[in-house]
Amino acid sequence: MKALKDRIIKDGRCFPGGILKVDNFINHQMDPILMKSMAVEFVRRFAGTKINKILTVEASGIAPAIMVGYLLELPVVFAKKRRPSTMENMLQTEVFSFTKNQTYTICVSKDYLQPGDSVLFIDDFLANGNAGKGIIDLVNQAGATLAGMGFLIEKEFQSGGAMLRQMGIHIESLAIIESLDNCIIRLKGVEPDGEGNNSNDVK
Ligand code: 5GP
Repeated sequence: MKALKDRIIKDGRCFPGGILKVDNFINHQMDPILMKSMAVEFVRRFAGTKINKILTVEASGIAPAIMVGYLLELPVVFAKKRRPSTMENMLQTEVFSFTKNQTYTICVSKDYLQPGDSVLFIDDFLANGNAGKGIIDLVNQAGATLAGMGFLIEKEFQSGGAMLRQMGIHIESLAIIESLDNCIIRLKGVEPDGEGNNSNDVK
């Protein structure tokens, strides 16, 4: 998606260890206009897919998920990263966090993820696919169906995209990062110039 790729080139920052910081428009300060455009693109890409609920994980998935839910007029459920003391009747699973290098529990109430639900999972990043695997586990525990997964940014050099596609899941990523080697952001479909910078001719 051109607008997102342009913004990553303009404002994305690369950190050692293969981390892309997009704090300026997704993960801290948020750009609602871009967020809406990205949601419109997800709606287009998942047109024709039966969906009755949007699922995400707190916190950074909530903004794109709610935009998609708003456009489709569907409820949005976020898996919580800490079990609330008041929450009974819940499904839970373990997820390893690549950026925080620790395992945490995510949970969803059985009231909000039910047999018969056909859910679209939306998140900011796809890296090794650990959050995705956790979501598949929760959806299976609930007896629901996973209709697809939409990510704002996929880091293709990590294994999550290949793994989830091999499982037959419909994955859509709005910008695909081929490499962050030497802290140069290489985007799929964008030619780098001689300096290693991406050209402005973003498709
Ligand atoms: P995965 O579960 O696919 O291994 O990693 C995805 C999750 O880790 C995302 O929800 C995101 O919060 C975080 N993440 C992974 N890679 C990056 C990255 O390069 N930058 C940022 N900001 N978050 C990332």
